[in-house]
Amino acid sequence: MVETLASIESFELDHDAVKAPYVRLIVRESGKHGDVISNFDIRLSQPNVSNLDPSSIHTIEHCLAGLVRNRIQGLIDISPFGCLTGFHAVFWGEPSVNQVAVVITEAFEALLEFDEEDVPGRSQKQCGTYKMHSLFGAKEWAKKILEQGISTDYLS
Ligand SMILES: [Zn+2]
Repeated sequence: MVETLASIESFELDHDAVKAPYVRLIVRESGKHGDVISNFDIRLSQPNVSNLDPSSIHTIEHCLAGLVRNRIQGLIDISPFGCLTGFHAVFWGEPSVNQVAVVITEAFEALLEFDEEDVPGRSQKQCGTYKMHSLFGAKEWAKKILEQGISTDYLS
C-alpha cells in the first residue's frame, strides 16, 4: 500500500444488506460558515445482482440533471456511481430522504414522457460520449424502478 486512504462511508455500507431501489442519506456536512450540504445514495438496482447499462444510466443522468432541479431547490450535483447501480445526489441544505424519494419518483415519471429531442445535452458539442445514450433503456429502467417503488428505508 502506497498510502493510507481516507475512509469512505459508502465502503462501510453492507451492500448485501440493502434493498434497492431506495434513497439513503449518506451524510450531512457543515462548512466553515455554517452552510450545510447533504449527500444521498440514490440506489436504483440491487447491488451485485443487477446494474444499469452505461447508455441507460448516461441518459438518465442527462435527464435527471434538469428534472430534479425543476422539482427541488439546492441540487449541487447528481452523478452516477461507477458501479452503475445508482447516483450520488448532493444538495445545499437539509432535504429529507422522503422529499428526495418523491422528487426522484416524479422525475422518473416525467422521463417516461420524453422523446429523443427532450433529452438535454446529447449533441457532440454538449457531451463527452454523445453516442453512448439510450432513451429506450432509460425508460425501461424508469418503469422497472417505478413498479418496485423507491423506498426510504434501505434495509427493508
Ligand atoms: Zn453525457
